[in-house]
Amino acid sequence: MSIIKSYAAKNAGAELEVWEYDAGELLPEDVEVKVDYCGICHSDLSMIDNEWGMSQYPLVAGHEVIGHVVALGSAAQSKGLKIGQRVGIGWTARSCGHCDACIDGNQINCTGGSVPTILNHGGFADKLRADWQWVIPLPDSIDIETAGPMLCGGITVFKPLLMHHVTATSRVGVIGIGGLGHIAIKLLRAMGAEVTAFSSNPSKEQEVRAMGADHVVNSRSQEALKALAGQFDLIINTVNVDLDWQPYFEALASGGNFHTVGAVLTPLPVPAFTLIGGDRSISGSATGNPSELRKLMKFAGRSKVAPITELFPMSKINDAIQHVRDGKARYRVVLKADS
Ligand SMILES: [Zn+2]
Ligand SMILES: [Zn+2]
Repeated sequence: MSIIKSYAAKNAGAELEVWEYDAGELLPEDVEVKVDYCGICHSDLSMIDNEWGMSQYPLVAGHEVIGHVVALGSAAQSKGLKIGQRVGIGWTARSCGHCDACIDGNQINCTGGSVPTILNHGGFADKLRADWQWVIPLPDSIDIETAGPMLCGGITVFKPLLMHHVTATSRVGVIGIGGLGHIAIKLLRAMGAEVTAFSSNPSKEQEVRAMGADHVVNSRSQEALKALAGQFDLIINTVNVDLDWQPYFEALASGGNFHTVGAVLTPLPVPAFTLIGGDRSISGSATGNPSELRKLMKFAGRSKVAPITELFPMSKINDAIQHVRDGKARYRVVLKADS
């Protein structure tokens, strides 16, 4: 018996209630982590509300966990993790380990069926468990109070920078300056790239420049967007609403790439000539692999890239979730364990 105290949704859209569950025997490959902090991500709300039709109740959300190791399964004891070590857990808790994608180090695309942390019972709890591969060692240099959102929001926008080989000479645009977009700007600044923020709210300009944007463009201005034709090596879209995309496609330089991490529900209309004329391409991705998570946390620690967060005690979790639902989070909310 290993009793874990959590905050669970008993059915779709419900307020969270204290719920204790028996996690059973620790699996050989598993690590048990005591939660110190856990971020709240929009995907937590989607899962609580069963927006994607895959939720199981009682549902324990929470997948931006900063904690420390309290138990190691028999096989996990020889994988470099130690009791007491500071670690993080993100969207994924386990992957099969033996499919072609996993063997290739591309565990996020595991064809054996990876398990999201939430469906394994997540971090809105005093403890949780994950396969050792997905338990990410943290450098001492990282600020543990703000680092949680890097494990989901951060890796989501770091992945395209790796995929598209961003360097100090890259010109990169970021659409949407919210939870994801503001981390993208900070990472790009730390990597030395030239950063343009596309924001529909010009009153944010000073704040967005302070995050590290070299340029802030009013995305509601057709003229401002048109003036940027042919400028960008990479444009990352972080919003999930339908926009007039063509000016952004036209803003790509030759060889440029439009990459979406925002789950826009309507198809992106791309004229073939937009891609053909200038070798442009369009891509997307979700979160990242253990190797990329390790790389991100080391980089964030060394370069002092940290999300802008608001802290709530975990016992006030329903207030914190409402704050996110109301769109008031500036820019990510983190829960501090207080049980
Ligand atoms: Zn696999
Ligand atoms: Zn998330």
